[in-house]
Amino acid sequence: MSGEPTDCIFCQIVAGEIPATKVYEDDDVLAFLDIRPVSKGHTLVMPKAHFSDIFDAPPELLARIAQRIPLIAKAVQKAVDAEGLNIYQNNAAAAGQVVLHLHYHIIPRHAKDGALAPWSHVNYDEGEAQRTAERIAEHLDT
Ligand code: 5GP
Ligand code: ZN
Repeated sequence: MSGEPTDCIFCQIVAGEIPATKVYEDDDVLAFLDIRPVSKGHTLVMPKAHFSDIFDAPPELLARIAQRIPLIAKAVQKAVDAEGLNIYQNNAAAAGQVVLHLHYHIIPRHAKDGALAPWSHVNYDEGEAQRTAERIAEHLDT
């Protein structure tokens, strides 16, 4: 939902009501260091306007953020001499989202740093992958 809820910590950062270590700012986008970094240089990139997640935000705004992410990610990578980086974006508590203001994590990585746990995997039953793909396709125009 748009608007600026007073209880949103990231809206408070945008408003200058609580401090943040900013690394990039323009009219629409703010990037700042995560207060509990997974690795040094861990940066959060978000719209200044309040949208809770990727389902809530307009595609045009998501495009503007996506446009800025390579610029910011390259700067982060160079600043901490990272060998790679992860870009994460959590939607809803079930996916690990804690702060309900849309944001992307840029997490610098170094070989064998063990910073993030490897993903677990599931298996499809016979025909289930095809059925799943068909269901996704059916929902693309809804
Ligand atoms: P989420 O789990 O919602 O995707 O990630 C929220 C992130 O915001 C966490 O990595 C957390 O460390 C960071 N964070 C929470 N509160 C603050 C804050 O007040 N300032 C900054 N800079 N980061 C915060
Ligand atoms: Zn907010």
